[in-house]
Amino acid sequence: MILTVTGGKGGTGKTSVALSIAQRMGQATYVDADVEAPNAAILLGAEMTAIGDVTKKIPRINEEKCIKCGLCAQACPVAALVHIPGKIPLFFEENCVGCMLCKDACPVGAIEEVEEQIGTIRQGHTGEITIYDGVALPGVEETAPIVSKLLEIALNKAKGDVIIDTAAGIHCNVVRAILPADRVAIVTEPTPYGVHDLEKIVKLVERLKKPAEIYANKWGISQHYEQRITEIAEKHGYALKKIPYSPDFARAYAQGRFAPLVIQ
Ligand code: SF4
Ligand code: SF4
Repeated sequence: MILTVTGGKGGTGKTSVALSIAQRMGQATYVDADVEAPNAAILLGAEMTAIGDVTKKIPRINEEKCIKCGLCAQACPVAALVHIPGKIPLFFEENCVGCMLCKDACPVGAIEEVEEQIGTIRQGHTGEITIYDGVALPGVEETAPIVSKLLEIALNKAKGDVIIDTAAGIHCNVVRAILPADRVAIVTEPTPYGVHDLEKIVKLVERLKKPAEIYANKWGISQHYEQRITEIAEKHGYALKKIPYSPDFARAYAQGRFAPLVIQ
């Protein structure tokens, strides 16, 4: 079974909920797909080892061969190359999607294709849980290939049930991590932002046609927003699991320690 744990809002305790579920499962594979800020290994104190690099193709202009015609910049669909007449085109790597249309357009073969590292896939263990995560290199904006490679490796090697812990939000990295799921656990909290973002992530999960349940963390801090979460769960036919607010847990988290949550 693949369970993806997600949440529209950051700071709801999504990773702690995911780790608490994983610990109940016994032998499990835990995939931390929040590649811009993976923290499950830190919370569990697991030693992680790099098992693969993630690269992307980028063009490199050979300045000796370039005749400064600008055809590569014209061919680029995302303005990653900018041509100033009489000069070698400027390259804005953060925009580049690696399509290599520029290379095809170059009349003198002045563009080479090079592989540049954008991230690393890691593996580690703690107890019966095997952890995989992806780590984007600083400054890398296009992180979707890291999530894709992480899921490919982890799901191929997985033993037992799988928990995928997504980034917060409803962007494409979250969608990628929900797509392989048999079930989705949506984590929220009884606050205005928690309820607002819950409605957005519920819409996304419904659009992806995945069965789901809601885990409401910090239960007991606002009757009003707990009522709203209950109504959303009832409206969509989702089971509602409540996790009482615990100052002990918040203290442990602030100290970088994992304390399993009590899920009711
Ligand atoms: S590889 Fe594609 S996106 Fe990148 S510079 Fe060339 S044409 Fe533009
Ligand atoms: S198409 Fe080739 S020759 Fe023309 S500017 Fe680009 S790299 Fe230089």
